Amino acid sequence: MSQSSLTVDSLISLIEQREQLKETHPLKYLFWESTLRCNLDCLHCGSDCMKDNSSKAKEIDISLVKKELVDIAKYYDTTQITFAIIGGEPLVREDIIEVGAFSAELGYNWGITTNGMLLTHAKIAQLKEANLKTISVSLDGLEAHHDELRNLKGSHKIVTKNIRRLMADRFFLAFDIICCVNGLNVNHLGEFVEELIEMGVPRVRFTPIFSHGRASENGHLILKDEQLRQLLTFIAKYRASGDNRIDVTLSEEGYYGAEFECQIREDLHYCGSGVQIGTILYDGKVMGCPSVSRKYTEGNIKDSSFMELWNSKFYQYRGGKEKLFESQCKGCEDWVLCEGGGFHLLDQKNCEGTLCQYEKVLKR
Ligand code: SF4
Ligand code: SF4
Repeated sequence: MSQSSLTVDSLISLIEQREQLKETHPLKYLFWESTLRCNLDCLHCGSDCMKDNSSKAKEIDISLVKKELVDIAKYYDTTQITFAIIGGEPLVREDIIEVGAFSAELGYNWGITTNGMLLTHAKIAQLKEANLKTISVSLDGLEAHHDELRNLKGSHKIVTKNIRRLMADRFFLAFDIICCVNGLNVNHLGEFVEELIEMGVPRVRFTPIFSHGRASENGHLILKDEQLRQLLTFIAKYRASGDNRIDVTLSEEGYYGAEFECQIREDLHYCGSGVQIGTILYDGKVMGCPSVSRKYTEGNIKDSSFMELWNSKFYQYRGGKEKLFESQCKGCEDWVLCEGGGFHLLDQKNCEGTLCQYEKVLKR
């Protein structure tokens, strides 16, 4: 069989598998947005987090989350599910580690995504004791860029000190840095990667800045089309170079066409929101991927269990995409591989021009 027919066959098989997944929707990632509160006030924050405590009263009690974890374990093999605790900043909430430890006892792989500011020796020891399996820390470039974006001078020093602590005792299964690429740091990615290698970081996930939340009010941070292309080219070249001191990858943030797909991350673009990815929000509402607009919620665990919602709702994520993306994607020959490029792209604030990421990086 020729290489080209193999490729066509594997693509057909992939598309069939994806259609099958919409039918069976096996939960693979369960996110819990534990809080909207945060200890930082970043310029580029894509979350709806708030530094003040006004949302605290609406945070669900951990007993509700534990109940859902037990219930989900009746339907799925928990060892195949990542239970990811996010925020806001999850470590501002003291009781999340108790939930993590509880999930580990049930077999889930649990992890956190953190800004890294609160990773003291004592906190790391607690996470280790609670069998934390995955940890993602945000670091947004070199010192000057990180501090400017994080709106706090000295924050880079604190986070890098804490990353070194983690690198000194690798009790977890997976660790990566998430770097939000924006107008300030896009020209310094090479130096940044060298800094990460020096710290012993095994993986960095670059995420193009997202025009949700406060980023849309700081226009100079939003990547121009040529800067987005520059980012993809940097990642593709790094991956092709054979330099395996660190895994450099793009987060799952859209479809970029034949020139870049398979060059910028392990697999082809795939948005599993509402198919393999579900989220319990801070106030108990349920939706697909946590990056998606809050317009697309499906119910609340205060009224129905997560599994009831997962098994009976989520139509807009599974069968309704063509309609949701119709105005942009109707007739596009890449639809079967792209499907609109990612659910998070819907409903961006102040988005100029197209939401189609592929269109943005096409060579002209
Ligand atoms: S038009 Fe839609 S389906 Fe086509 S590449 Fe762009 S986002 Fe994807
Ligand atoms: S919504 Fe976006 S960030 Fe979430 S899984 Fe889909 S492509 Fe990825």
